[in-house]
Amino acid sequence: MARYTDAVCRLCRREGMKLFLKGTKCFSDKCPIEKRNFAPGQHGKDRKAKIVGYGLQLREKQKTKRIYFTQEGQFRSYFEKAARSKGVTGEVLLQQLERRLDSIVYRLGFGISRRQARQLVRHGHVAVNGKKVNIPSYQVSVGEEISIREGSRKLPILESAKEFAGHQNAPNWLQIDRDNFTGRMLSLPKREDIQLPVNEQLIVELYSK
Ligand code: SF4
Repeated sequence: MARYTDAVCRLCRREGMKLFLKGTKCFSDKCPIEKRNFAPGQHGKDRKAKIVGYGLQLREKQKTKRIYFTQEGQFRSYFEKAARSKGVTGEVLLQQLERRLDSIVYRLGFGISRRQARQLVRHGHVAVNGKKVNIPSYQVSVGEEISIREGSRKLPILESAKEFAGHQNAPNWLQIDRDNFTGRMLSLPKREDIQLPVNEQLIVELYSK
């Protein structure tokens, strides 16, 4: 599947809710959901049918994929791994998404959105235990230290991200030292730690058919 390159706000309008994909804009009155909370496209306003059953399960999966910017194949493999694990499948699925390096960089407040955090990783500005890692899907393990590399700490986007993150609550499963651009994963996130408008059970039902 080709990577999605259209305006990301359309994804929120498609799901009918804020997915918080653009950082500061999402908290401002410039957010299109505030003014045009209907599906994009010519007939978006007319699509008001209540979604149930398979359609609901599908939307839940699409929404979750969009929040984390993952593609179908990768998302499916997260599910399969979760289904093979001993834990609760839906919770393990979300844990794997949260443990992606780009997501952790975002949670640590080094990017104003997962998208920006992904760029930081891709462009080689992030290290895990002191070594450069430029793979956004890298799964961070408990105890690993994530940092912005020494030579990248003066990037202007890090300053604005730091300011933005100052207004956010730090997750309790991560240790954060924003002044030194480092953080550590203290434990796996529990379901209640992952504040997302997602019903993961619907995704499990969809893939279990
Ligand atoms: Fe979604 Fe943020 Fe765009 Fe609003 S501003 S529609 S929350 S990505």
